[in-house]
Amino acid sequence: MVQLLDGKALALQIKEEIANEVRQRTAEGLRAPHLAAVLVGDDGASQTYVASKEKASHEVGFTSSVYRYPANTTEEQLLDAIKFLNEDPEIDGYIVQLPLPKQINEQHIIDAISPDKDVDGFTSINVGRMILSEDAFVSATPMGICTLLKRYGIETQGKHCVVVGRSNIVGTPVANLLSRKGFDCTVTLCHSKTQNLAEITRQADILIVAIGKPEFITADMVKEGAVLVDVGIHRIPDDTKKSGYRIIGDVKHSEVDSKCSWSTPVPGGVGPLTIVSLLQNTLKANKKNIR
Ligand code: NDP
Repeated sequence: MVQLLDGKALALQIKEEIANEVRQRTAEGLRAPHLAAVLVGDDGASQTYVASKEKASHEVGFTSSVYRYPANTTEEQLLDAIKFLNEDPEIDGYIVQLPLPKQINEQHIIDAISPDKDVDGFTSINVGRMILSEDAFVSATPMGICTLLKRYGIETQGKHCVVVGRSNIVGTPVANLLSRKGFDCTVTLCHSKTQNLAEITRQADILIVAIGKPEFITADMVKEGAVLVDVGIHRIPDDTKKSGYRIIGDVKHSEVDSKCSWSTPVPGGVGPLTIVSLLQNTLKANKKNIR
């Protein structure tokens, strides 16, 4: 029978561990970690994400602040804000919530973030360090997936891991991390030009799906006993819900889960671990700054 990779429960446990460490450090007179967020414009989803990061920060005893800018902010203005955050010794780490308005080049902004404060792990420097297995801030979602597999004791050594989706923030880094010493998976990375996708996914001992297409992965694409990680998040209208919508993933769980040994629910799988990874990175930055 399928067992749940319960990201929500694990996130609560790790948040408790972080909160304990913060309590210990502040009791010793050390400054609490400070996570800041930059929010440009009034995109609803971005506001929700930033609010949940703020809430999680408070839950573990961090200081948190949000720098809000209007949608017509120019790249130069935002670069000035980044410079200010880079230089503020009271801020350990910060994130720039994406997407940014069209007039701003996202890569210019990301690469202006000090690598030492880049707790999202998006700068070229941190991505490079990660690939070279150097000490780096690893981006939150791939790090969360690795934490989930590790903490649930999923055997990875020598296993065939198929990652579907090659984005810079999920598929490519998680494929890299799981192929490394320590995880030791044999990794196949698939994308929209992959031929015979189902044939490949059916070979996966561990199947990680991050394609952004609702319920794309069906039962015929999954091997019996596979470990399934569904990264996708989609809001679809649902009149039976008070909110008017429900959340589904990239996998058709109603038919796939019964074939799996382990599976992440959506919601409550990868998502909560993403925020926890950001907190872990911020604590790490704080510990480097304040010893
Ligand atoms: P992107 O849109 O950046 O990347 C999607 C990837 O999927 C691309 O590499 C694309 O290939 C590939 N792809 C698209 N269609 C197919 C197909 N038919 N067959 C095989 N591969 C395909 O998505 P993200 O990585 O940013 O996000 C993926 C999903 O994960 C989304 O639903 C997003 O909302 C969710 N997400 C969830 C997070 C969480 O915390 N749980 C965090 C981040 C994202 P190609 O490169 O060839 O175009």
